[in-house]
Amino acid sequence: PVRVRNLEKNFGRYPALKGVSLDVEAGELVALLGPSGSGKTTLLRAIAGLEQPDGGQVLFGDIDANSLSLRERRIGFVFQQYALFKHMKVFDNIAFGLRARPRTSRPSESAIKAKVLELLHLVQLDGLEARYPAQLSGGQRQRVALARALAIEPRVLLLDEPFGALDARVRKDLRKWLRELHQRTGHTTLFVTHDQDEAFELADRIAILDHGRIEQVGTAQEILDHPATPFIDSFIEGIA
Ligand code: ATP
Repeated sequence: PVRVRNLEKNFGRYPALKGVSLDVEAGELVALLGPSGSGKTTLLRAIAGLEQPDGGQVLFGDIDANSLSLRERRIGFVFQQYALFKHMKVFDNIAFGLRARPRTSRPSESAIKAKVLELLHLVQLDGLEARYPAQLSGGQRQRVALARALAIEPRVLLLDEPFGALDARVRKDLRKWLRELHQRTGHTTLFVTHDQDEAFELADRIAILDHGRIEQVGTAQEILDHPATPFIDSFIEGIA
């Protein structure tokens, strides 16, 4: 589980996170929804250790994230724009995190190969290991990015609008696909989106952020039935 406690982050005098608390339970998929600039990406980056918070705490179970190095945090991160290494084949992209481990815990090349092929199968890209990213569709690239994030057996999977750059049809297909994958593998996942339908369809629970504050956390049904504030009420307007 991930426990975020009273997290604060200022950029100069601008408060991007104003005391955010959020729990993501083991195996849960929480969607983080909110308008542009509400602090979604900043929250993910703080959990990943890419931003140093000005206050508060991130815990992985009982472990204070601050006591861990970036590598020890073992975060799987997928961004909106594929951050695949262009000059590396799919195989080497997925193997990257495993090969980057310190020598004492690095798997053998044959174990890495088995793991990469297993992950390719999981993301339904069997046989594409020798391609370069440029030879894949956008949706395929995001699935490679997901396989790469899963390779390190992450404590938590952080997905920052992973399908945001794709066209509507592909996005819908991938949404369904991710839901099924999550049900099978049960990774603790925080999924940022500003697509409300995506959040309501994918998530076990939804957290709605506005101006650096979490306004409401709950299941889709709870939020639709009892919007906590007028902001939530107008924000979810239009969702069936
Ligand atoms: P979007 O949906 O547009 O991606 P977001 O909810 O992810 O938005 P953030 O990217 O977390 O929002 O940004 C929150 C606020 O902090 C914004 O007002 C943004 O301009 C500001 N901000 C983010 N990163 C920085 C930075 N490195 N320096 C200064 N301000 C920043």
